[in-house]
Amino acid sequence: MGEGLTAEQQLEEIRNNLTTIQQKITDTCIKTGREPSSVRLLPVTKTVPAERLRIAYSAGCLEMGENKVQEAREKSQILEDLDIKWCVIGHLQTNKVKYITRFAHEFQALDSLKIAAELDKRLQAAGRGMDVYVQVNSSGETSKFGLSPDEVENFVKQLPNYSSLQIKGLMTLAVFSPDLERVRACFIRMRELQEKLRQNAPDGLLFNELSMGMSGDFELAIEEGATVVRVGQAIFGKRPLPDSHYWPGFG
Ligand SMILES: *Cc1c(COP(=O)(O)O)cnc(C)c1O
Repeated sequence: MGEGLTAEQQLEEIRNNLTTIQQKITDTCIKTGREPSSVRLLPVTKTVPAERLRIAYSAGCLEMGENKVQEAREKSQILEDLDIKWCVIGHLQTNKVKYITRFAHEFQALDSLKIAAELDKRLQAAGRGMDVYVQVNSSGETSKFGLSPDEVENFVKQLPNYSSLQIKGLMTLAVFSPDLERVRACFIRMRELQEKLRQNAPDGLLFNELSMGMSGDFELAIEEGATVVRVGQAIFGKRPLPDSHYWPGFG
């Protein structure tokens, strides 16, 4: 999608895709007795060139999720005249933390105390906070990042030590499988974990948010309680590179 189209046609195409997805979100919410406004659509923009993102911004994408720091940083610089909220949704190495505190509004892939400490240190120095999600490996696949579900409760007990991190909730990537019941099982595991944390988490940590569901499975995720869905290809078209480029070990 997008290739060979004028800017106007691209705008139209992105708008249509957003409308279709938003309608599916609304329908799924109504079907399951949820408030449609309780689900946030986070557009995922990895591999999409900056100039196309300028068009996406006009179409209403005010937030953009990227999973590689370098790519996100470059785009945030090119598009700095726009008021985009950048969300980093991929695993972070300690030496990259210093970059994300310069442009990111949110970090959805916290999976170690080392990163939490480094992030907090940088944010304290910059005099700001950041919305943060703890990434959970809900499928048990070794190719996926994130804490195993049974580590999460102990992990979050340490988080009040890092006061600039505003802990919003949990994030996961479900198993990539055509077997929807296996995918659903990941989402159910997350919802149960969220419920447990809401009862036992330290004061000040609410765990109201559950970031799960992508182009292929966001409706399923909403049925099981997602409050943030991260959608890329259904908005921007198929990515030119295989997913193994983004998730080492997969594909
Ligand atoms: C790429 C990506 C998505 C979106 O996947 P699509 O198939 O493009 O919808 C969601 N979450 C993460 C962490 C990603 O890297």
